[in-house]
Amino acid sequence: MIIDFRSDTVTKPTPGMMEAMMHASVGDDVFGEDPTINLLEKRMAGLFGMEAALYCASGTMSNQVAITSHTRPGDEVICEQEAHVYIYEGGGIAFNAGCQVRPVAGDRGRIRAEQVLKSINSKDVHKARTSLVCLENTSNRGGGSCYDFNEIIKIKEVCDTHQLNLHLDGARLFNALVAKNEKPDDYGSVFHSISVCFNKGLGCPAGSMLMGSEKFIHQARRVRKVFGGGMRQAGFFAATAVYALDHHIERLATDHLHAKKIEAALQNHPLVKMVLPVETNLVIFELKDGVDMGGFISRLREREILLLPISDRRLRIITHLDISADMLLIFLKALTHIS
Ligand SMILES: *Cc1c(COP(=O)(O)O)cnc(C)c1O
Repeated sequence: MIIDFRSDTVTKPTPGMMEAMMHASVGDDVFGEDPTINLLEKRMAGLFGMEAALYCASGTMSNQVAITSHTRPGDEVICEQEAHVYIYEGGGIAFNAGCQVRPVAGDRGRIRAEQVLKSINSKDVHKARTSLVCLENTSNRGGGSCYDFNEIIKIKEVCDTHQLNLHLDGARLFNALVAKNEKPDDYGSVFHSISVCFNKGLGCPAGSMLMGSEKFIHQARRVRKVFGGGMRQAGFFAATAVYALDHHIERLATDHLHAKKIEAALQNHPLVKMVLPVETNLVIFELKDGVDMGGFISRLREREILLLPISDRRLRIITHLDISADMLLIFLKALTHIS
């Protein structure tokens, strides 16, 4: 039995989810005729209190469609220096939107309003036009850290004063909502656009949703088509998201509990130097100086336990739908044998 902690994207559809796919009613979504996609877009827009939504193939596509729709070539985008949109999307901000990035050093992936303010370029013709701020909640490289909503409101005030758009990369936003008991429509009232992934903790095989105003989503729909993201009978996928909204949101609390137990075990482990504070389903940790990281990984791999190196010092564990309580126990036991 392989226990795969590398990512929350490794999940397989559950029987219930497969059933939902088999019974999905579908149509040509580029003609606007896929009933399941139309329903999902409406439901997500409603949930977040936003006017409209656009179903996309992946979180990367949602983010890139959003950034391209919000900006003009030559603009500058402010984000945290380890933001997914900056380091994990293949240079898409430059490639797709023709924009450059102003990376900001934050605290576990989160930036503050005063940092945003300081990063806005003056109107001087030498400078790139600052037009967009991207936040990430939860932060991937920050170890699943959550924003304090009050800071988001402060950032929004800076954006309003300086006529900047504010996008949220909410690939794991549902994890934050569950962990902090927050309301989706509070987020919808602050951001100009929000992307969320169905293919991460929610257990779907693919898909993401981009939400925003009617006008923004109209433009985003055009950009998605240009990117080759018009998917026709993708209602089969959208049905998995409808199923996940009904069945896989509240259970995220279980993943968070599992991650907390892993955090505690690692904190007491003789080979571990530090663990980033666990707030949701990610656990990022470093081994003590001189401990061979490759050896650590392969000793776990021998026991069919997989985790992911994310730098030459850091390892990542993610809990998800396909990690059971039994698997967690097996892993915790295995850890005690490695020293
Ligand atoms: C995974 C992830 C994405 C992109 O999602 P894909 O569906 O893999 O393209 C975007 N942002 C964050 C923070 C992520 O963790």
